[in-house]
Parts: sequence; C-alpha cells; structure tokens
Amino acid sequence: MKIGIVGAGMVGSAAGYAIALKGTASKIVFVDYNAALAKAQAEDIAHAVPFASSTVVMAGDYADLKGAKAVILAAGVGQKPGESRLQLLARNAEVFRQIIGKVLDAAPDAVLLIATNPVDIMTQIATELSGLPPTRVIGSGTILDTARFRHLIGEHLGVSPRSVHAYVLGEHGDSEVLCWSSARAGALSVKEFSAQMRVPLTEGIKAKIDDGVRNAAYTIINGKGATWYGIGAGLERLFRAVARDEQTVLSVSIVTPKVEGVSNVALSLPRIVGAQGVVADLFPELDDAEHEALGASARLLKTTLDALEY
Ligand code: ADP
Repeated sequence: MKIGIVGAGMVGSAAGYAIALKGTASKIVFVDYNAALAKAQAEDIAHAVPFASSTVVMAGDYADLKGAKAVILAAGVGQKPGESRLQLLARNAEVFRQIIGKVLDAAPDAVLLIATNPVDIMTQIATELSGLPPTRVIGSGTILDTARFRHLIGEHLGVSPRSVHAYVLGEHGDSEVLCWSSARAGALSVKEFSAQMRVPLTEGIKAKIDDGVRNAAYTIINGKGATWYGIGAGLERLFRAVARDEQTVLSVSIVTPKVEGVSNVALSLPRIVGAQGVVADLFPELDDAEHEALGASARLLKTTLDALEY
C-alpha cells in the first residue's frame, strides 16, 4: 500500500523512517515545498531500507500521490518571534489550505492522517477544508501520550506496557485527561493489580506519572529543541491500522459530534481504526473529575477554534 507524506521535516521524515523500517507501506512518497529537502530525506531513508524491508521511498510532486491510500500531513511553519499562538495557527491553516485540495485531487480516496500541531485544531481545520467525512481525517492526537501513560504505569507495576490498557483523552496538550478510573493491567483495575502484586499505587505516585506524561514533550524540547521519533512511531502505528484494516483501538483525534455537551470538536477518544478510517468511537467509564476535565478540555479547544480566523 502506498502512502504519501506531505511535509518532510523532522516529524514527517521520522514517520517515513518508521514506516520504511517496518515495511508497512510498499511505497512512500515525500512531498514538500522545499523539494531539495524532500529529495534528501527520501534518499537518506531509502539507504536504510536494504537493511530492513522492501519499501520504495521517493520524493515527488502532488501528482505522485495518485493511488495513495493514506496521506500524512506533517507540513507546517515555525513560530516567528513575537507571534501569538493564534497567529501561528492561522498561518498553519493557510499551509493546509494550500495543500489539501492538491492532495485530494491526486488521492481522492486517501485517509488523511494529521500530524501538524496543535494537532486537534489542525485536524478540525483539515476536516473543514477537505469536506471529507470526519472519520477519514484522523489526528495523531493523544496516541503518544497514551503510549507514555502505559509505559509509566507498566514500569511502576512491573508489567509490560502491552498488558496495560489505559488512555489519555481530550486535547493533545496541557488540558489532556489521564483516564485512571478505567485503566487496567491484565484484566484487573490498576488498583486491584497493585494490591495483588503488592506494589503501592498512591495518589503521590499517580501524580508523578501524570506529570511524566503531561510534561514529557517539554523535557525533550528542552534537551533537543523538538520531538520526532516518538510521534514518528505513533504515526506508523496509526497508518498500520489503516493499511491492514486492523480495527485496532487507538486514542486519536477526529471531529466528534458530541463530547461532554460540546458539539463538533476534534479531540482524542479511544476509537476503532481500519481501512476506511475511524469505524467507531468509544466512551470509557470516567469518574466525576475525569468527566469534568474532559469537558474543560473540549471547551478549551472549541474556544481556540472560535477565536481563529482562517
Ligand atoms: P516538524 O518538527 O513539525 O516536522 P519542520 O519545520 O521540521 O517541523 O517540518 C515542517 C515541514 O513542512 C518543512 O519541511 C516545510 O518545508 C514544510 N512545509 C511548510 N509549508 C509547506 C507547504 N505549504 N507545502 C508543503 N510543505 C510545507
């Protein structure tokens, strides 16, 4: 299956690298308005392929996206000095306005996978600009936050993160909600698991895990300026669910008709993902505080979107 990646910067190229190494796509096409960058990334990644898979990696123009079943949108612009978050958002909306029509002209059946931050708002913009059903415009959302949450719970409880089922919901950002009340290890609630395994799970430890999930990106940005490998692997995971029609549950962002009384807002919930995009939304059991926090996250996203002119 062919995939297009528009935006060959750090995030787009890390996604392409992960997809090439795992051999998830038969062909990857990078498109960037910096054509030299797209070509260089494609060649560099193509040179990794003989060690790993048989994926063909190339750079091209929008026309070369023909036949792609999925296209990752990772294009965006950086913040200028003195620029507000909303001004930056408006410029990124403009980037999407330039891109989306051309992507859909070449690949009208593609599922769009949105990676550009702030990902929930960009997913909402991409949905509106494309006119596609929301189920076909999927933001990476909290896919990585959920992976970090599972990793930290697993590490603390002494169990593989693959045996942990726990989700981060809402905005991919400061207002995200770590859903403790439905977190499970094995088939047990994490509370029961910690009691049976005699590993304490105190409020202090939960707060530390919460902090680790919420602030992971800041710590990485302090050290290396930006993050790309984690999200690159997350995008590969999301693409794999589409490419193999897996019907896997992933926490991803799409425009959702109703969440905690807020209508038509893009945010993350656990959703079943397959070849056509999102097949179904799942609403985990939440306690009162989590309901309240998810509502606050939804309202915050809606307020930002309403303030944005694009
Ligand atoms: P990130 O760390 O999010 O990947 P980068 O700045 O490294 O950010 O990458 C963003 C990429 O998006 C850059 O390579 C840039 O050239 C590309 N880009 C920006 N605007 C457009 C556009 N209108 N069309 C295509 N590519 C674009």
